[in-house]
Amino acid sequence: MFRRAAAPPPIDVDAVRAAVGRVEDPEIHRPIGDLGMVGAIGADRNGLVTVEIRLTTPSCPLRETFRSQVTAAVRSVVPTASVDIAFGVLDDRARRDLAIQLRGPETSGIPLVAPRIYAVASGKGGVGKSTVTANLAVALADQGLAVGLLDADVWGYSVPQLFGVRRAPVALNGIMFPVEAHGVRLMSTGFLVGEDEPVIWRGPMLHKALEQFLSDVHWGELDVLLMDLPPGTGDITLSLLELVPSAALLAVTTPQPAARTVASRVGRMARDARMPVAGVVENMSTATCQACGNGTPLFGEGGGAQLADELGVALLAQIPVDIAIREAGDEGVPVVRRNPTSGSAHEFRSLAAGLPTVRRSIVGMPLPLSVA
Ligand code: ADP
Repeated sequence: MFRRAAAPPPIDVDAVRAAVGRVEDPEIHRPIGDLGMVGAIGADRNGLVTVEIRLTTPSCPLRETFRSQVTAAVRSVVPTASVDIAFGVLDDRARRDLAIQLRGPETSGIPLVAPRIYAVASGKGGVGKSTVTANLAVALADQGLAVGLLDADVWGYSVPQLFGVRRAPVALNGIMFPVEAHGVRLMSTGFLVGEDEPVIWRGPMLHKALEQFLSDVHWGELDVLLMDLPPGTGDITLSLLELVPSAALLAVTTPQPAARTVASRVGRMARDARMPVAGVVENMSTATCQACGNGTPLFGEGGGAQLADELGVALLAQIPVDIAIREAGDEGVPVVRRNPTSGSAHEFRSLAAGLPTVRRSIVGMPLPLSVA
């Protein structure tokens, strides 16, 4: 006798909507349901589920990330579903509402939520300050922390290269979203200018750009923000100290006495600005030969310990000279990801694990006239 197959149970569209709504926007770091980005959802008898996702911008670079996350969310409710996703764009009103939701109704800046902020500085260029910052950021993110990296080296930016990304950040009604790579939220002038294009901004524009990186970038809730400063004690460094008074200095030097001398100037500047110093990182330290165990002090010895002594802080790490670090930088994959078992990756992870939390001393600081 001919028997009709039992019809599949109807799909619970509300449950699908709830699951899709919980998908987190990869750059805004909030559920897309709360952001008004989930449009119509339909389901037919054959198990086809259609979902409309409204993106912040038609050229959203994260379409494929959305596609896979939304598909997974639908299948968490209907495991056998075929999923068809149609991408649209938020209309002007929805964009405005979303911007207000993220920034607040005023035109004031987006509050920066980052209980730990470190300004990574060096006396001169080429000592590996950006390399240390990038790897420290990834190692902190690997601990499960929400990490932001602000490339404040506006002329000599290297964050796009070190992380292997070069695309414009998504922007929405005056709000910029950091570009995420290797688990770190990044912002750099390098994302805003064309490849190999020189940055010719002058002092006031640079100050403005930094201010915008802090007030118009929706970093989301961060646990740690690292700021990769330009080398030396120039205007940008001073601007940043002013804009982010809660930052602690992390000084990077090579073992060379000359590098240590110039780095100590940065330490003195921090002291003058009453900025606490979190510690010293010595980079390009003695490399130990894997085969014979001999160490080669290619860039001299002792600079990190002397600087730490002078600043009255701890020498937090000695990162060896390692060809893998240079290769990783050239390839755009930080060495803690590219060669996680290498000695240098191990050093970066222990630097991240032991990074002290320091508070700015209020001794001797003028008292605020009013307390909010
Ligand atoms: P800075 O930010 O101080 O100007 P970078 O981080 O750009 O310096 O590093 C300068 C160069 O040195 C880069 O090519 C980088 O790959 C390389 N480098 C940095 N640290 C090391 C290291 N520990 N071993 C080998 N090469 C390194």
